Amino acid sequence: MPHVGVVGAGLAGLRCTDILLQHGFNVTLIEGRNRLGGRVHQRQLPSGHKVDAGPNWIHGTEDNPILDLAKETNTEVASVQGKSSIFDNTGRQIPTADVIAYSGIMWDIVSAAFAHSNKHSATISPDESLWDFFQKEVPKRIPDSSPDFEQKRKFVYEIADQWGAFVGSHIFTQSLKFFWLEECIEGENLFVTGTYEKILQLVAKPAVEGANIKYETIVNKIQTINDEDGVLRVHTEGGELLEFDEVVLTAPLGWLKQHTDAFEPPLPWKLTKAIKNIGYGCLEKAYISFPKAFWLPTHQEDHTVGGLSQMLSPSYATSSNPQKWNQEFLELASLHPTAAPPTLLYYFYGDQSKFITGELAKLASEEKKDAFLLEWFKPYYSLLPHYDEKNPDCQPTGCYATEWLNDDLAGNGSYSNFQVGLEEGDVDIETMREGLPGRGLWLAGEHTAPFVALGTATGAYWSGESVGKRIAQAYSRGEGGVTVFA
Ligand SMILES: Cc1cc2nc3c(=O)[nH]c(=O)nc-3n(C[C@H](O)[C@H](O)[C@H](O)COP(=O)(O)OP(=O)(O)OC[C@H]3O[C@@H](n4cnc5c(N)ncnc54)[C@H](O)[C@@H]3O)c2cc1C
Repeated sequence: MPHVGVVGAGLAGLRCTDILLQHGFNVTLIEGRNRLGGRVHQRQLPSGHKVDAGPNWIHGTEDNPILDLAKETNTEVASVQGKSSIFDNTGRQIPTADVIAYSGIMWDIVSAAFAHSNKHSATISPDESLWDFFQKEVPKRIPDSSPDFEQKRKFVYEIADQWGAFVGSHIFTQSLKFFWLEECIEGENLFVTGTYEKILQLVAKPAVEGANIKYETIVNKIQTINDEDGVLRVHTEGGELLEFDEVVLTAPLGWLKQHTDAFEPPLPWKLTKAIKNIGYGCLEKAYISFPKAFWLPTHQEDHTVGGLSQMLSPSYATSSNPQKWNQEFLELASLHPTAAPPTLLYYFYGDQSKFITGELAKLASEEKKDAFLLEWFKPYYSLLPHYDEKNPDCQPTGCYATEWLNDDLAGNGSYSNFQVGLEEGDVDIETMREGLPGRGLWLAGEHTAPFVALGTATGAYWSGESVGKRIAQAYSRGEGGVTVFA
């Protein structure tokens, strides 16, 4: 019975293991952490609520296996569509009609950029960014003849910055040529209020029951010993040597970028180049919990906070935030009647991620980290409706921020994206997706997903499934490529 080593127990590795077990393979799952799930992970807040450190969203509702798993596990999801609040640079909440108008312009331009990228990718310069596209399109939509046109344009540009929170890098580094690779499965983006926990448990079940799982085992070298019989040797940091007939490597793209020398013989130039070319973002998030969601309206009010919200270019917190980084947040309390905690979820990326995770890395205790985070976010949450310093409901009960940038096994970042300068993004993805089957070395993970699901939990799941099926196919001697080693 062929023995497959699957490196990494995130969604890709777990789904791949499931498929291989179904086809009768002997599978050893090698995981560097002491837990399953990789970037899918939950933390408990002091309030007792669990929150996701990795994915919160299901991107697309048409034929999305993660949505099917959410339904199967009764995982609560919520729609956030059409809601958002915006605060200007003085901290004043913008009237809803203006939010709708300017956000509408910004999303129209994003749609136009997708259409442009899809249609003209071949001729768009690799150096053009999504930001460049905005600079051409905003004046067309807010002409010089419009009253206060400069102010209005500035506003749309500032709102557009939120693109960074989708991909983990700044809008001015987002490739326009390969913007189409950011397009997701059709349908809505749903927020997983019930967390990804039950989804993960269901995906992991076959591996837990049928595979040999080696925890806290970090792979540092993969050797192809003999091209003819295809035996691979996997070396671990602990000095172990494991032999397999096939190896599926699901370590994140960020890890691959830092370890292209972990392969013997070296990876072909085309694959090394592909790994180098595709970008790796750094989205991070922080949760801040309160005894009650003090910001929710007590009765019909004009200015309430809801959905994905922004505090633009804050000029009132310059001692801690001299760069005036926008603050993007989602209030969770109104999303679900039972599953949603009285919590604010902040998203940050790029330089702000580097700064916050850099500061957190210097702090030894959880208490010091909490103190830093609360000081950082207080200028922003204190602007929300009904905030009163003396009211106990407005005093945070706890907080938690992710540190994916400090996490080597997450590749020191969040997920793949497409940066200016990229010349053949689609070919690079296909090269990683192909892997080196002739050498028994297969790659899976969100960076090898189908184009509509790159960088997502769905994409990771599909990528593992696809490699599992391809390996089964390669060994198939039976009818229709089904089980051969039972
Ligand atoms: C902050 C954040 C927000 C996100 N938001 C969303 C979202 O809303 N929706 C969405 O769909 N997706 C989102 N994603 C992306 C999603 O989490 C990933 O695409 C998906 O979880 C990746 O799964 P994977 O199996 O490819 O990789 P991983 O989950 O990273 O699994 C790889 C595994 O390999 C292990 N490993 C790494 N190196 C080694 C080694 N050398 N030896 C042994 N083991 C190793 C790691 O510990 C890990 O368990 C988000 C990610 C982050 C970080």
